[in-house]
Amino acid sequence: MKIAIMGAMPEEIAPLLERVGEYTSSEYAGNTYYEASYKGHSLVIAYSKIGKVFSTLTASTMLQKFGAEVLLFSGVAGAINPELKIGDLIAATKLCQHDLDITAFGHPYGYVPEGKQFIEADAALISMAKEVASEMGVKLMEGIIATGDQFVADPVRNRWIGETFNADALEMEGASVACVCDAMGVPFFILRSISDAADMDASFSFDAFLISSAQESANFIIKMVEKIGH
Ligand code: SAH
Repeated sequence: MKIAIMGAMPEEIAPLLERVGEYTSSEYAGNTYYEASYKGHSLVIAYSKIGKVFSTLTASTMLQKFGAEVLLFSGVAGAINPELKIGDLIAATKLCQHDLDITAFGHPYGYVPEGKQFIEADAALISMAKEVASEMGVKLMEGIIATGDQFVADPVRNRWIGETFNADALEMEGASVACVCDAMGVPFFILRSISDAADMDASFSFDAFLISSAQESANFIIKMVEKIGH
């Protein structure tokens, strides 16, 4: 199977490239795409750069140009749900855009006409993730992830996103990737490991835990790849 694995930042895909060992790379639309064979699958791996626009471009490219049949996202996020601690894993059940706002016309936050307020991730991949979590002996929370073009380092904004979308974690790429995959009919799975609490200390915490949390997420994603189709 052709599997896309994406992250937003180099640190998020470095552990994946290290794990697959040999790969080729090619340039397309201002980005680098890495191709490798792993456990009988063809992988295309890339980091998009941060935010909804770049992640949309990368996800579209992975599906349309590289023909990926499934997309797995590996990365880090800020916690909203206080049960989520640094390094904990969360798999998105559904995703929304917390900064999408045409409420002036009476629409709910995160909604535009002909769009969806929430996009659901693939149920089969989530249940596979639960099996992987129990095999690895790690805790995996399932929950709502809110995406926006903002690094949230503000408890008030954090609480607002939590209350408005019932969200458990927040980041900057998941919902846009979900939107692409949903439109193209490609199953997707968004995994995040917590790097910070999206509070006043978020940028310090992010810098301190980016590498270790990105590694947690990548380890899990590799196990998912090993399980797909087996
Ligand atoms: N330190 C980077 C910027 C990181 S932006 C630099 O200077 O270039 C944060 C990245 O991690 C985004 O890709 C986002 O998806 C995720 N993330 C982690 N914590 C976040 C938070 N509190 N708010 C928003 N995104 C967060």
